[in-house]
Amino acid sequence: MKTCKRCQQEKPGEAFGPSRNRDGLASWCRQCHRERGSEWAKENRERLTVKAAAWRATNQEKAAESSLRHSRKFAEKRLRYSAEWSKSNRDKRRATDAKHKAAKRLAVPAWADIKAIAAFYAATPAGHQVDHIVPLVSPYVCGLHCEANLQYLTSSENQSKRNFWWPDMPRIEDAQRQSRMFA
Ligand SMILES: [Zn+2]
Repeated sequence: MKTCKRCQQEKPGEAFGPSRNRDGLASWCRQCHRERGSEWAKENRERLTVKAAAWRATNQEKAAESSLRHSRKFAEKRLRYSAEWSKSNRDKRRATDAKHKAAKRLAVPAWADIKAIAAFYAATPAGHQVDHIVPLVSPYVCGLHCEANLQYLTSSENQSKRNFWWPDMPRIEDAQRQSRMFA
């Protein structure tokens, strides 16, 4: 039996890992080493999260690219998950779709060429979806439902794009400054 220097509990020799101590056993029990290890990971996770957030703030374009890359990697998985989710959350799914439709109605400018939009949708290649280049609903700007803002994406590309990046996306601070100006 040996007393652990950390938890002060007396435990059998097997409860301690090997070490170069005189008795060949670590002074902390395995349990304590495990606990300390997960505490360390947690502390570092916080530190690294702060560091990562600071990096993203100063490298927004790179950060957007890397989250897009990451997102593409898991697109398939997310598609499957999303289909399953929709099946068991039909009401929520319908509500989201309705909200999106309403946003689309409001986003149609008076000069939009409805026929051209319809033709664009009609010509959608197999396995693709029509995507709004600038999303109709995003925290910063809302895109328009017009021909110039439409593109074809494969389903998984569309899934991975979501509403967080588009070409010429304003930097987050700029968008926030602008929304304060109009508030
Ligand atoms: Zn211990």
